[in-house]
Amino acid sequence: MEDIKDALTDIRERMRRAAVACHRDPDSVKLVAVTKTVSTERVLEGIQAGISILGENYVQEAQKKIEALKSYPVSWHFIGHLQSNKARHAIGLFDLIHSVDSFKLAKELDKRAKAAAKIQKILIQVNISGEETKSGIDPVQTLQLVRDIGALEHLSVRGLMTMPPFFNAPERVQPYFRALKELQNRIREAAPPTVMMEELSMGMSGDFETAVQEGATLVRIGTSIFGRRS
Ligand SMILES: *Cc1c(COP(=O)(O)O)cnc(C)c1O
Repeated sequence: MEDIKDALTDIRERMRRAAVACHRDPDSVKLVAVTKTVSTERVLEGIQAGISILGENYVQEAQKKIEALKSYPVSWHFIGHLQSNKARHAIGLFDLIHSVDSFKLAKELDKRAKAAAKIQKILIQVNISGEETKSGIDPVQTLQLVRDIGALEHLSVRGLMTMPPFFNAPERVQPYFRALKELQNRIREAAPPTVMMEELSMGMSGDFETAVQEGATLVRIGTSIFGRRS
């Protein structure tokens, strides 16, 4: 318990300092505590220490924790790769899905959100480095995807997310974070009015200060709060 509390205090202070250093309002950057592989008991300790947004990578794992912790007023985000056949489950569980990267997945989510009478908030995951092994849409195709999704009535696009290469190596990821910010600006100018572009989900344990400096509004931090994953 104390370890999580101390780690959180440290992370929040570092986030605040990074924001102030580049003249940003510290309240404009939110912490998503990444809880993949972390036990429900430890997640609860985190909530009691003040975490209010939790990020999960796997639908089934998240489902159990969300059910067990449903009496706590926290928000759950999905940050992992989402398969279309899990879309139905994801709709009922997550306030924000960070990882939409195809129109096929978007259409499936839209259909399921409609059936649940819900507007699902999403981010578009961009493969900003173009690595073949990475999830995410090609930056060149992102505006078109955003336009297509903008026409779906039960999805609400809120911004962009990325996983850069060399993550956790701050000096090497900086150009990728900057590129995502530039893409956000371009899309903001050209996207239909139904699309919002206020969120930028980028930065993890080893590089979140660089991400804040480049405009992140959501940083996703696991290891630095809960310790190494086994
Ligand atoms: C695991 C994970 C994180 C957190 O990474 P840490 O280095 O443990 O902070 C952030 N984002 C995504 C998409 C992840 O899968």
